[in-house]
Amino acid sequence: QAKIIDGKAIARDIKEELRVEVERLKANGTVPTLAVVLVGGDPASAVYVKNKKAACAHVGIRSLSYELPADTTEASLLELVEELNSRQDVHGILVQLPLPVQIDEDKVLMAIRPEKDVDGFHPMNVGNLSIGRPGFVSCTPAGILELLKRTGIQLKGKKCVIVGRSNIVGKPVAMLLLREHATVTICHSRTEDLPGECRQADVLVAAVGIPNFIKGSHVKPGAVVIDVGINRLADGKLCGDVDYVECLEVAGHITPVPGGVGPMTIAMLMKNCVEAASK
Ligand code: NAD
Repeated sequence: QAKIIDGKAIARDIKEELRVEVERLKANGTVPTLAVVLVGGDPASAVYVKNKKAACAHVGIRSLSYELPADTTEASLLELVEELNSRQDVHGILVQLPLPVQIDEDKVLMAIRPEKDVDGFHPMNVGNLSIGRPGFVSCTPAGILELLKRTGIQLKGKKCVIVGRSNIVGKPVAMLLLREHATVTICHSRTEDLPGECRQADVLVAAVGIPNFIKGSHVKPGAVVIDVGINRLADGKLCGDVDYVECLEVAGHITPVPGGVGPMTIAMLMKNCVEAASK
């Protein structure tokens, strides 16, 4: 049976380390500050924002909340971003996605100064990641790497297969694994023989958004299986992209949902905020 990678415990360790770092920054006169912008009343977004603010409080980061109505114009949101960009006492800016239809998300993300882009979505940070320069890495991919590292998984020379090619998960995970000298394959909805590709993986990362998509038969015995999926089932329960019961029997290591990648995302957001404030 696979060893279960406890993302909750690892995220807790990271947040404890960050608390110490925040204390040090405060003692030197810097209060790490994250501005969190929420536009409209999407209930899922409201929960994410609440969790992020709670994590800030836990680590000692000051969070500033901007809750704007659903009919906010693009111009006024851009104006707020500009104001936050120029404020010396704001180190990180997070605009919760998705934004209402009248607002061009790309435009807003590109307006955030790359040095304050703690979500790592600005093309400058995305580009820096792909050419191996320092910059902010988006939080879920960074969290996946941290999970692998802290679990002691060897990546150098290993075959890593990622299912999903989104800009916020699949592609940046691939870049990070490449940086660790893994041999990386990205699969997606047009991939021929997806099970065959998956079965070659020493590390299999599922970021598809389909409940229980990865079956036991997709997994090479002993492989590390990382489940990024967060899917809400009809009965209200959360479920990953990996058929946990089946894969638990085949894999060497596996992340549960919830309690795997999810908690790491927020921990890495906190890490990015502390880094932004340290500069
Ligand atoms: P997305 O919808 O943007 O991308 C899904 C990817 O899966 C696409 O690239 C697509 O090509 C691929 N895909 C779809 N159907 C496929 C199929 N039949 N075969 C092979 N590939 C297929 O999703 P995303 O934003 O990357 O998120 C993926 C999952 O991860 C979702 O469940 C999401 O909720 C979750 N997620 C979790 C966190 C976290 O903090 N843990 C963060 C972001 C996303």
